[in-house]
Amino acid sequence: MAWKTIDDLALAGKTVLVRVDINVPMEGDRVTDTTRIDKIKPTVEDLIALGAKVVLLAHFDRPKGKVVPEMSLGRLQAAVAASLGRKVVFGTDSVGAPAREAIAAAGQGDVVLLENTRFHPGEEKNDPALAAEFAALGDVFVNDAFSAAHRAHASTEGLARLLPCAAGRLMEAELKALEAALGAPVRPVVAVVGGAKVSTKLDLLGNLVTKVDHLVIGGGMANTFLVAQGIEVGKSLAERDMAPTALEIIAKAKAAGCTIHLPVDVVVAGEFKANAANKVVAVGDCPADQMILDAGPATVKAIEAVFAACKTLIWNGPLGAFELTPFDAATVAAARAAAALTRAGKLVSVAGGGDTVAALHHAGVAEDFTFISTAGGAFLEWMEGKDLPGVAALNQ
Ligand code: ADP
Ligand code: MG
Repeated sequence: MAWKTIDDLALAGKTVLVRVDINVPMEGDRVTDTTRIDKIKPTVEDLIALGAKVVLLAHFDRPKGKVVPEMSLGRLQAAVAASLGRKVVFGTDSVGAPAREAIAAAGQGDVVLLENTRFHPGEEKNDPALAAEFAALGDVFVNDAFSAAHRAHASTEGLARLLPCAAGRLMEAELKALEAALGAPVRPVVAVVGGAKVSTKLDLLGNLVTKVDHLVIGGGMANTFLVAQGIEVGKSLAERDMAPTALEIIAKAKAAGCTIHLPVDVVVAGEFKANAANKVVAVGDCPADQMILDAGPATVKAIEAVFAACKTLIWNGPLGAFELTPFDAATVAAARAAAALTRAGKLVSVAGGGDTVAALHHAGVAEDFTFISTAGGAFLEWMEGKDLPGVAALNQ
């Protein structure tokens, strides 16, 4: 896949519309985590250094096409200014006179922040008329919101069709990492898929078995695969009605030459609770009144051996109920093994997913992975092999 970057465009003296994701968590008027704002800084700085005037387009929360004052991006003006270290001029609408006036009022090196794009009903409908109103505000479009790329909206897909466009630095980093993990990866490739349920990750599993050499299945979803093969799992979380689907995935993997790795031993407990009395048993020996809450040490050893034999790792979903000690053990151990191989230059490691990112932070290795995607839904749809409209539009 090829996409343009900021370096491919002539930007001096241009007004650049930059779609960003600054949908940050807030408590009252305080931003509790500025990560998303901090991450747009490289793009903003590079654009300003190249002589462009930067106009930020963004959504905030879900106003559903109506003006909802509590969801005004004006609430983020000070936080954006603080994070970027620049004056931020706020436009009280994302189109029309208020937007034009804010852009005109911004001086050299100032940043314009326009009101929530989702205040307009046309945004989520990808209305061409709204996209044209955005396009009228600037000369060039830069999309830096990978996390919003799985939806075709007016300020993402629609706008890219109307102006010369490119990927921002954050989008570029994400696309490069994803391309390195599944697009044209160095083989062999191992995917780890864990988490609670097979049903939420069917498309993902179906796509991965055709793309990777090894698939490690963990977490609650492994139980469904065990049940499908006639292995009893007691009171464990398992989707028994998904057994035929699990068998189909196993068959598809076999046909594609993908080796599936399921737990060989498991940690069982009587209840889903931190520090619940527990023991390690061989898979198949889960007592009827117990549940599987983590992979066992032999399974972790086997996973570490697969990691060591591979060059690329892509990971979504924890191997156990990692929020509850000690059932975080397998996830933490496997994460640390992947981190060590990455640090040693032996593995390209890419991970994503809300709970997965939390688990890697918990294991203290988030910094050591090659790339951690914070894109949530867009990351998962990309793992499912779907075309992301916001990215595809940059490609034309
Ligand atoms: P992500 O957000 O990274 O995509 P998921 O939401 O699919 O990951 O999965 C995370 C959840 O899976 C966690 O809440 C974890 O407790 C749960 N989980 C993992 N293993 C088990 C298990 N054996 N039994 C019950 N829940 C599990
Ligand atoms: Mg989750």
